[in-house]
Amino acid sequence: MFHFKRSSLSLALSLAGVIAGATLLSSCDNVTNSSKDALVIDGKTMGTFYRVSLLGVDKSREPELRKQIEAQLAEDDHEMSTYKEDSVLSRFNQYLGTAPQPISAGMADAIVTSLRIGQKTGGEMDITVGPLVNLWGFGPQKQPTKTPTDEQIAAARQEIGLQHLKVIQQSDGQYLQKDMPNMYVDLSTVGEGSATDHLARLIEANGISNYLVSVGGAVVSRGHNPKGNPWQVAIQKPTDKDNEVQAIVDLQGMGISTSGSYRNYYELDGKRLSHIIDPATGHPITHKLVSATVIASTALEADGWDTGLMVLGTKKAMALAEKEHLAVYLITKTPEGFEVHMTPQFKAYLREPE
Ligand code: FAD
Repeated sequence: MFHFKRSSLSLALSLAGVIAGATLLSSCDNVTNSSKDALVIDGKTMGTFYRVSLLGVDKSREPELRKQIEAQLAEDDHEMSTYKEDSVLSRFNQYLGTAPQPISAGMADAIVTSLRIGQKTGGEMDITVGPLVNLWGFGPQKQPTKTPTDEQIAAARQEIGLQHLKVIQQSDGQYLQKDMPNMYVDLSTVGEGSATDHLARLIEANGISNYLVSVGGAVVSRGHNPKGNPWQVAIQKPTDKDNEVQAIVDLQGMGISTSGSYRNYYELDGKRLSHIIDPATGHPITHKLVSATVIASTALEADGWDTGLMVLGTKKAMALAEKEHLAVYLITKTPEGFEVHMTPQFKAYLREPE
């Protein structure tokens, strides 16, 4: 029996701190209740949604700003999508050689960040995990009708490993090189964070300093909301229901991202399969950690860590978060409901609803 809900993990956004007026981001239903004074520009991108809330910007600027925003998102999509055959990343994956291939500075930044975080998570966050993601039906291909065999999983695991991928910085630009010709890189775990940071930079380049930007489950905010307070972002309760707020944070100009296994899954042969794959086993994760939220200096950094922590599971994720002094908020499913674990760094961002 299949039950497949594709929706990127969502953070309930509270504009002007009004939780009731929160804007929910999830790829299945983008509810846009814009608060009264913010100019809101939103739409679809990368199989999910983007949303930009701007303060003190005249409505007449919307068409030009929307054009710039959608051009930036199209550029990121053209570089890092595995859902477009002709993207830079798809061409790299189709290329069956090992010569260095040119990539943009933005793509190099996303990959270098992913490789660094991948090392720190002991290879559990692994952007070369694409063959397994596709085998389990969470990539652009169709879902399997039968559970992959041990042989298929073993074969896919032969084609992955961070050590086989590197970014080369040369005087004429950046290059990506693999030492296994049929490697398949999947940047789905960091694409939203990278795109969110790019949009934030674009908004600042337009002279706007009070904004809230999100792509899928990644968010960056700067300055204040229409009430004159810092923008607040709400983390959703890890349930299928929308609008259930778990916690509220004031980002203080940082980036935030949540990864979770409670929305993007399907059932096969009676088992519920998460879209987060453990490279060490080749299987979707099955432990009880259902949501990992990270606050970091950029949305890209936060987006890179959240998936790696999800793979590690609660205990190892908390140990690594403490070792790396990360601002982390984990929700674990228990027989009674949910249990929260957070680092002291994360506690500093928690706020009561306004
Ligand atoms: P996260 O929880 O942050 O990461 C999970 C994703 O990362 C998985 O879906 C898998 O792809 C990958 N992953 C799984 N395990 C690991 C691991 N151990 N290490 C590293 N990565 C892992 N989706 C569509 O349906 N249609 C589209 O057209 C589309 N276009 C996209 C274009 C771009 C540029 C990008 C970056 C993504 C696109 N996606 C598309 C995918 C979609 O946007 C989300 O990335 C996907 O649904 C996962 O979002 P998430 O926040 O839940 O991922």
